[in-house]
Amino acid sequence: MTYTQADFATRAKALDEADPLRDYPGRFLGSDDPEIVAYLDGNSLGRPTRATAERIAAFVTEAWGGRLIRGWDEQWFDLPVTIGDRIGATVLGAAPGQTTIGDSTTVLLYKIARGALALRPGRTEIVLDRDNFPTDRYLLESIARELGLTLRWIEPEFTGGVTARELAEAVSERTALVVLSHVAYRSGYLLDAPALRAVAHDVGALLLLDLCHSAGAVELELDSWAVDFAVGCTYKYLNGGPGAPAFAYVRAEHLADFTQPIWGWMGRESPFEMAQGYVPAQGIRRVISGTPAIIGMLPIQDTLDLIEEAGMAAVRAKSVALTGFALDLVAHWLAPLGVEVSSPADPARRGGHVTIDHPRFKEITARLWQRGVIPDFRPPQGIRIGLSPLSTTYAEVLAGVAAIRDELAAR
Ligand SMILES: *Cc1c(COP(=O)(O)O)cnc(C)c1O
Repeated sequence: MTYTQADFATRAKALDEADPLRDYPGRFLGSDDPEIVAYLDGNSLGRPTRATAERIAAFVTEAWGGRLIRGWDEQWFDLPVTIGDRIGATVLGAAPGQTTIGDSTTVLLYKIARGALALRPGRTEIVLDRDNFPTDRYLLESIARELGLTLRWIEPEFTGGVTARELAEAVSERTALVVLSHVAYRSGYLLDAPALRAVAHDVGALLLLDLCHSAGAVELELDSWAVDFAVGCTYKYLNGGPGAPAFAYVRAEHLADFTQPIWGWMGRESPFEMAQGYVPAQGIRRVISGTPAIIGMLPIQDTLDLIEEAGMAAVRAKSVALTGFALDLVAHWLAPLGVEVSSPADPARRGGHVTIDHPRFKEITARLWQRGVIPDFRPPQGIRIGLSPLSTTYAEVLAGVAAIRDELAAR
């Protein structure tokens, strides 16, 4: 059966009207901007909430301008772990005391990977995959050089990601740490986290998951999956704003022995005693190094409010429906023009975005941006359609894929 533009427009309208989260897009700034036809890059930089605009203004005048240095004692000192606990409860499936925010994902990955490796002395290998995000690969190259360790690379399928079987072939008694992205930044493949954790633990290795493309898009159960460590962005599906502090999760059972290499005063026991010698703070605070970026932590709280209200199950259900609708449109309109899908067809193995490939996509992405349709381009020839469940409408998905079709058909 072939669907016309009108059929799909009717379907998009019906989906938006029946959407239990239909009121949420309006709670983001710019949702009524006529120049933005379709924002399909919320997985790279989420939109700001309207509440955030007010929160930041109020913070400058009231908290910073009014409380001045007193703000540290009153609230800011604890904010990284207060917000960490909220992220844990709302998004990660993590009990309190295991999550904190601060630094970038890159820096936290370094600190957590080094801390994890120190828990497996004598082991000589780190297992990772070729499709992991560049920063993860580069950092582990640096750590391997620094510590004289060997990197063992998995080469997953282009349209998929690391499977339990592939991991089982790569790990051994030599493996100290396995580092994988829970949702692959390119293909969108969603790992079977508990299965991979079991494979890692079977040989005595630890598992560190990068959750940048998961947090706020897919349901996570870090505690019950028995994942050892995790890090992730807050500026993607958590709408924390450009460069917002990342989060780190250290499983409670590892905390007492965990040390990371950037020994700053804010991660010390009783920092304001200014004492001689570094002694790590009790609990998750030991992940902190220097003074945390408090202003950067403001917007995340507004997204957590929205997710708490909506519930991660509803967020994930919308995400699956959005990517499913996008794939339907791609199958009907773009496949006949030579476009290939590089993301999993099975929604249970798919994160919050869909990647499609065509040799002309680099040039076409630039033209799409000019007409207010904003996906992103990922080499070699992929357009990533990122669908942020709280802020994206089905009408946007329709408009976005139709624009790609029109650009491909023109000429
Ligand atoms: C976006 C992303 C990062 C980004 O790290 P930064 O330090 O914030 O630049 C890291 N890993 C993955 C998987 C990502 O998707």
